[in-house]
Amino acid sequence: MKVAVCSAQSYDRQFLLAANRDAHHELVFFESHLSEETRQMVTGFPVVCVFVNDTLDNRVLETLAAQGTRLIALRCAGFNNVDIQSASALGIRVVRVPAYSPHSVAEHTVALMLTLNRRLHQAYNRVRNGNFTLQGLLGFEMRNKIVGIIGTGRIGTAVAQILRGFGCRLLAYDLQPNSTCTQLGVEYVPLETLYAESDIITLHCPLNPQTHRLIDDAAVERMKQGVMLINTSRGAVIDTRAVIVGLKSSRIGYLGLDVYEQEGDLFFQDLTGQVIQDDLFVRLLTFPNVLITGHQGFFTAEALSSIAQTTLRNITEFERDGSCSNEVTVELLRSG
Ligand code: NAD
Repeated sequence: MKVAVCSAQSYDRQFLLAANRDAHHELVFFESHLSEETRQMVTGFPVVCVFVNDTLDNRVLETLAAQGTRLIALRCAGFNNVDIQSASALGIRVVRVPAYSPHSVAEHTVALMLTLNRRLHQAYNRVRNGNFTLQGLLGFEMRNKIVGIIGTGRIGTAVAQILRGFGCRLLAYDLQPNSTCTQLGVEYVPLETLYAESDIITLHCPLNPQTHRLIDDAAVERMKQGVMLINTSRGAVIDTRAVIVGLKSSRIGYLGLDVYEQEGDLFFQDLTGQVIQDDLFVRLLTFPNVLITGHQGFFTAEALSSIAQTTLRNITEFERDGSCSNEVTVELLRSG
């Protein structure tokens, strides 16, 4: 099928073209994000393939439907950037890659924890400058620390499996507890308990109306003094302003982010030498105990290969008989 691949980076081309040797679709790559401003660029493409920071709201979807698009193929698991109800009303099907090595994101999550704990981001620069002092680099043992996992789906479970090996005590909150975690010794508790008892809190729930700004002023106030907060899920699960207040009061002792609410204006681009206009983001960069990566949790060879293969398989399936085994439906949206 004729596929418009939006937000295409060189690595997207590399892995999609490799997977397409067997799938034989006609792939046309666009570096731009899909948005209200750029929606005309995909005119006449029955399939539009998008990523996390493409915007598919009602206005964009209406244009796409009028231009002949029948399938949106997400190259990711999250679908918060697509108005699923509008797509359904317009007769556009939406498919995603529900699972592509949750270990990639889980391992990155733990990398953020360890880097912040042992202050590797500071140690790296210090040693390169010839400063071999240790003041300010004091860490703690992960063993016996209490880690609270919010959202124990594929990624949250993989995080629990890794942290079990470190000897952490694991608490969790999820609307649907899973038995793999329970068997690992994860203890499901109310959110209040998780906030109050955890030394480290890590977010692995999807972004939806219930989780939007879940971490707000009230949540931060309930957390332990000096807590480590990690977010590799979606930026808007955190109210950035509330977290900055928490950092300034030292309630939050460490913050690790791979996602940011307004990341669409920043991430996946080289803005070297440009003035960043987002004052909240720039404030975050001033804290020594904040570590930010630019949505790279998924970024492993294994995950990119798996994403490319599943994306093209989703398109082939739709072309063959209209079936979509990885469809995002209104029912899935409602079930969270
Ligand atoms: P998943 O669907 O397997 O798991 C999500 C879990 O969250 C489920 O167990 C669900 O019951 C739970 N949940 C839903 N609503 C909740 C709520 N209100 N409170 C608590 N828990 C709730 O998804 P996954 O594959 O583990 O991915 C989790 C999220 O990670 C995705 O939605 C996506 O936003 C993010 N993600 C980030 C990256 C990255 O590169 N940083 C890559 C992939 C996914």
